[in-house]
Amino acid sequence: MQVPAPFTYERATSVEHAIELLGQLGPEARVVAGGHSLIPMMKLRLARPDALVDINALGAELGQIRVDGTDLVIGALTRHADLLRSAVAGEHFPIFHDAEKVIADPVVRNFGTVGGSLCQADPAEDLSAVFAAVDAVAIARGPGGVRQVPVRELHVGPYETVLAPDELLLELRVRIRPGGGSAYEKVERRVGDYAVAAGGAALWLDGDTVSGAGIGLTAVGAAHFAAPEAEAALVGQPATEESFRAAGRIAAEHCNPTADQRGPVDYKRHLAAELTTRALRRAAARARGQEA
Ligand SMILES: Cc1cc2nc3c(=O)[nH]c(=O)nc-3n(C[C@H](O)[C@H](O)[C@H](O)COP(=O)(O)OP(=O)(O)OC[C@H]3O[C@@H](n4cnc5c(N)ncnc54)[C@H](O)[C@@H]3O)c2cc1C
Repeated sequence: MQVPAPFTYERATSVEHAIELLGQLGPEARVVAGGHSLIPMMKLRLARPDALVDINALGAELGQIRVDGTDLVIGALTRHADLLRSAVAGEHFPIFHDAEKVIADPVVRNFGTVGGSLCQADPAEDLSAVFAAVDAVAIARGPGGVRQVPVRELHVGPYETVLAPDELLLELRVRIRPGGGSAYEKVERRVGDYAVAAGGAALWLDGDTVSGAGIGLTAVGAAHFAAPEAEAALVGQPATEESFRAAGRIAAEHCNPTADQRGPVDYKRHLAAELTTRALRRAAARARGQEA
């Protein structure tokens, strides 16, 4: 079936208006941003919202990338293509450019949004792992006001977040700290496909010692797209190949891949270790001012 079930459609003119509409239309209403995840699901009748609240007119409020004090702020309605083009995002966190280069194709990247990617909570979504690696905070707003949710607490399971039906994701905030580097590594079956597996790393160095580490994993069943055990093992260790390989092994041990058309469990676990190691290696090189 390639035709969605009937639904009503409203176009929000402001954030307040969107939240008001979501409240009026009830829990079966859904926000639509780029529509590249939701509309295909509606056509397949895997999603059957009664109503859609279109937020595409809210670019001025929700589509900006900027530095605010010590935070890099990425609006929820930022298109993949805008994040890929953003000099300020790439300067502070090159992991965003690494990931955006390998997300889908130009058509999807021109319309799909950062907020839609995170709220879709697809277990193979690249940006969920990226924002987990950089330990971002999501800012959401509902009828009760604004709240902050660490990205590592945003996803409660496949296709499920902690956001209420009448809450809107506004933006993502990432703290900018000196001495850092970041990178993303993905294996896909063909260009533009979802990951077989992917790993992201954000690393901070104090001389040759790891002073802070964030590791994100996608498509391998890592809880909250993160690898906290591997991060804990890295901090305080020398930033060497041996430490990165050890962290990769720990990340692979603690994830929980499932076999599917993209590969068997042992292959995905192997990728989790290898891609984590590669991402850490490149993140460390970038933290040292060398492009890797
Ligand atoms: C052909 C194809 C290839 C793809 N390849 C990849 C890939 O390689 N890697 C990858 O990671 N992704 C991939 N994607 C997924 C793509 O990244 C997402 O479809 C897209 O970016 C989701 O954003 P959207 O704006 O289209 O979300 P929508 O489809 O509009 O929405 C998705 C979900 O998020 C909710 N939502 C959206 N915005 C908000 C908000 N601000 N607040 C609250 N809820 C919100 C919606 O209600 C819906 O539940 C691919 C998609 C396609 C179609």
